[in-house]
Amino acid sequence: MRIVLIGPPGAGKGTQARVLAGLLSVPAISSGDLFRAETSRGTALGELVQRHTDAGELVPDELTAAVVTGRLREPDAADGFLLDGFPRTVGQAELLEEALGKDGTVIDAVLALGLPDEEIVQRLTGRRLCPACGTTVHTVFSPPRVPDRCDGCVGPLVRRADDTEETVLRRLALYAEQTVPLLRWYAARDLLFPVDAAGTVREVSDRMSSALAAVAR
Ligand code: AMP
Repeated sequence: MRIVLIGPPGAGKGTQARVLAGLLSVPAISSGDLFRAETSRGTALGELVQRHTDAGELVPDELTAAVVTGRLREPDAADGFLLDGFPRTVGQAELLEEALGKDGTVIDAVLALGLPDEEIVQRLTGRRLCPACGTTVHTVFSPPRVPDRCDGCVGPLVRRADDTEETVLRRLALYAEQTVPLLRWYAARDLLFPVDAAGTVREVSDRMSSALAAVAR
């Protein structure tokens, strides 16, 4: 299956992409991860991307589409994939449609995770990470045993720079402006399946699987 996963920041998109890709045995392809790999390799493309991400902007559509559609041509994506974080604009969706059309393939379904803004702000502003072992906690929903210390490796927990309330609100505004029109674009093509992103990882992934079972029928 060829699936697109859309959702606002903090809706659990990355986590759900990994769960669903495992269930479907397809690669989860994240535009953010592809960009981070370029940046950490220090390529010219990575430097260009970083100028946009540092400014809190989206990377231009043509460039983003070229990077992602290039990845889709790799052999592991030949029989299906799950796109996470791309497309994010109508322009990107049009470029994706064009690129897939050349190979005679189409997107089967678009799963759109939804969560009220207040809950997103609460989730992201309370999120703390352990840079040493990658553990994520929440100051209210899953607090560490010792404040500001990782339960696993006892290292200090940190807050991501873009998890402050001001930045979260800016990211939500960008989502409303650039990505909400994309939901309407996919709805007009009968491809959109809204999924409630509230609850546990398991509850949300069960909802996504039920939505996809309806597509497969
Ligand atoms: P993410 O990890 O998905 O939040 O992506 C990190 C950053 O990469 C974003 O803030 C954007 O600057 C850039 N980015 C990722 N995906 C896209 C996309 N589909 N279109 C434009 N920019 C993107």
